[in-house]
Amino acid sequence: MPINLPIYFDNAATTRCDPRVVEAMLPYFTEKFGNPGSRNHKFGWDSEEAVDIARGQIADLIGSSPKEIVFTSGSTEANNLAIKGAAEMYAKKPEGETGRGHIISAIHEHKAVIDPVKRLEKRGFDVTMLTPGADGLITAAMVKDAMRDDTILCSIMWANNELGTINEVPQIGKVVRDAGAVMHTDATQWVGKMPTNVVEDNIDLLSLSGHKMYGPKGVGALYVRRRRPRIRLVAQIEGGGQERGYRSGTLNVPGIVGLGMACEICSKEMDSERERLLKMRQRLESTLADSIDVTQINGHADKRLPHVTNISFGFVEGEGLMMAVKNIACSSGSACTSASLEPSYVLKALGVGDDLAHSSLRLSLGRFNTEEEVDFAIGNIQEAVRKLRELSPLFDMHNEGIDISTIEWATH
Ligand SMILES: *Cc1c(COP(=O)(O)O)cnc(C)c1O
Repeated sequence: MPINLPIYFDNAATTRCDPRVVEAMLPYFTEKFGNPGSRNHKFGWDSEEAVDIARGQIADLIGSSPKEIVFTSGSTEANNLAIKGAAEMYAKKPEGETGRGHIISAIHEHKAVIDPVKRLEKRGFDVTMLTPGADGLITAAMVKDAMRDDTILCSIMWANNELGTINEVPQIGKVVRDAGAVMHTDATQWVGKMPTNVVEDNIDLLSLSGHKMYGPKGVGALYVRRRRPRIRLVAQIEGGGQERGYRSGTLNVPGIVGLGMACEICSKEMDSERERLLKMRQRLESTLADSIDVTQINGHADKRLPHVTNISFGFVEGEGLMMAVKNIACSSGSACTSASLEPSYVLKALGVGDDLAHSSLRLSLGRFNTEEEVDFAIGNIQEAVRKLRELSPLFDMHNEGIDISTIEWATH
């Protein structure tokens, strides 16, 4: 099969919508356009029924009851509702005072967790941000050590978006819930790819997003536990009282139908898809690591999503690398801030140096990738690194056996 360039290896950023998802959504833009809140006519009833089916499809994927699903605009909103909503509900002191309760999270979470947590810190909550090990993992032991008598909430992501590393969320959930605090997980990268059961996995609140699992953008959900114990939240968006008052606003019916179908497909195809993507990723990763000197796979070797790899190439200049692999759509270890390229805060959290962070690539495979594309990427990256290193005096010195770290550089 011929391949189209650029190839798409950025499935952790977003995924292509599955055509089966689009097909399921289409009628809900036109003939079935009713507002599910309209109680008096067939247009409303038909939409409500479609939303109920989607609720069931999502619940089936994560082992919850349909009543425990609250639709949102995506994971960013689900995280905000979970974190701010739970903190406000379980606060030990009123707004305006300090010492309102303790919250645990981690420094390499997605910004959609870090920023709400920072906001709560400004509003009088105490915050502990855990630092992962060099393998990128947060463990139950780390969380246990951080727990305090006044801990009300812990938010630890299931799988990291830059590394693909998998935290021991079921064990962390047990520690948190045994202590009577609320366990939230940002499972955006996990759900639909790996088996999930919110009951067995000790989760109170879970965020998921359509566009990371072959569904549409702008729709997601928050799972909110209803029994043992019943978790309550303070609504963050107020209005018509939809979603049992947790999230007002007319439901995005086509999006919700698409998310439901995306979940159903993932339920059915997850096992075979995982296996296929793992083989492809292993070949990509091991071929690159074996054929190119001075590479480093970032994050734990095994506790990683099957389809994500994050590799650093020593003695390669980061911007040059991105230019040289422009036929591979992927992410780099640099983030564009207002004026400059900053090394990724996630790689920094693992202790990866700035140079290696800049010269790293996150390659994330997905449902629509092929073996041929993997072959292309391997060849392209090998060639890019070889050419860039031809320009690197440091690489020459490394090859001559000089330890670069011992050199004293002249400063003028
Ligand atoms: C993509 C992503 C988000 C944001 O999700 P949206 O649905 O785009 O708002 C949050 N957390 C993680 C881990 C993500 O990968």
